[in-house]
Amino acid sequence: MIFQKKLSRVLVLLVLLGLVAAGIAYKLTGDPYSTQPDVIFIVMDMVRSDRLSMCGHNRPTSPVLDALAEKQGVQATCNAYSPGTWTLPSHASYFTGEEVPVHGADCILKPDGVDSVSLWGDPVRPLTGNIPTLAQKMRDRGYRTVMVSGNPEVSRWAATGLDRGFQLLRESRQFGDLYGDDLVAALKSALVEVTDDAPLFLFINIADVHHPWLPVPNDLEWVPPRPFLDNRPRIPDNPYPRFFRDEMTDEEKARFLAHANDSYDYAVWRADKTLGRVLDILEKRGTTRRPHRLIVTSDHGEFLGEHDLLSHGIFVYEPDTRVPLVFVSSSPSSSFKTSRPMAALASYDLALDGALRDIPRPVRAAGYPDGLLSKLFGDRLTATTAAHWNGDEKLFYINGKYSIFDLKADPDELDPRPMPDNHPLRKRFEGFVEQILQTSRRKTEPSKEMIEALRALGYVE
Ligand SMILES: [Zn+2]
Repeated sequence: MIFQKKLSRVLVLLVLLGLVAAGIAYKLTGDPYSTQPDVIFIVMDMVRSDRLSMCGHNRPTSPVLDALAEKQGVQATCNAYSPGTWTLPSHASYFTGEEVPVHGADCILKPDGVDSVSLWGDPVRPLTGNIPTLAQKMRDRGYRTVMVSGNPEVSRWAATGLDRGFQLLRESRQFGDLYGDDLVAALKSALVEVTDDAPLFLFINIADVHHPWLPVPNDLEWVPPRPFLDNRPRIPDNPYPRFFRDEMTDEEKARFLAHANDSYDYAVWRADKTLGRVLDILEKRGTTRRPHRLIVTSDHGEFLGEHDLLSHGIFVYEPDTRVPLVFVSSSPSSSFKTSRPMAALASYDLALDGALRDIPRPVRAAGYPDGLLSKLFGDRLTATTAAHWNGDEKLFYINGKYSIFDLKADPDELDPRPMPDNHPLRKRFEGFVEQILQTSRRKTEPSKEMIEALRALGYVE
């Protein structure tokens, strides 16, 4: 008996010593799961800044974003610029932290001998190769990596390479099947499967603004009811190709553009509503009461008649590139100036480390020719474009021509001025354009050596 008592005392002592040792070890190493914040990265696909009430639009299209941006400590800008002009290149930039000419995932005109996949009949170069993705990096840090995407181009099925590093995925098969309620249900079902205590890296693409646009109902005071408008540019006999082929009378064009503008604003309102429901789910899950970061941005905008253009994907004019960026952090560590242009690519830094890089990223975008649109609508849509924003000044390149827009005096970019040879940014901008032209001719993804060489030359930051 006495021996047993002694033994149990020794055991209790050993357990206590073990607990103390574990406590010391915890202090020394830290608990990786309790110190790493949940990271939520949301892309509201195809949302241009100037159509958000958050950015001064005269219709109440974004009540959820408006309220979020007004919360204390939240940083929001309407002057972020997407790195690319459509889904694949911009997402590839957001997922690698690199500009489009470096990762090279974009349209290609001639697929011969190039690693390519077909996206809606168009040859494109997927995100391949050796640049690690945000999801891979987060996974290596112990995160559970989850993607819920309403845009089928951001999925395994499309073979665009954008799924690399995600452990749990909910993806759409075609545009329209994961919008609104369906996206919310997909998010809920994904989060049910996240049962461990690991920190969460959650990427969500809200694609409600993409096609198909829904008819505008008659119960909204700020927009008239509208029937369905098919906004796919490649379907014969719908209004989009007729607009591109210049087959509309002036009156018909004005009617059509008013319809397109109303349908777009309604789609933005729906996407904002979906964002609200996503934020509610995260609130209920407790994410917002734990250490967390939230980034909301867009991958590109949409032309609604400006420059005689519709849709998106080639031209780096403002309607296709100026997007919102909202950043929420439970431990804010850096701030951005909201009145100056900034690279939406900073989303990568904010997601990865919760802070902007010491040296701000250059604000640049690249646009590549879309093979199928070029084939359908001719030279007008066969363009390689680039831009570099510098305050109110926008350096612009299109098909061999360099010019400058003064965005303050000429916000609609109707008056390009010649770019002086001795402009202080000209050489740097020409280097960027050279990178773009090289990428369009390149047959494979860039090697590590090529990226390092470009870095050494100052082409890559
Ligand atoms: Zn997109």
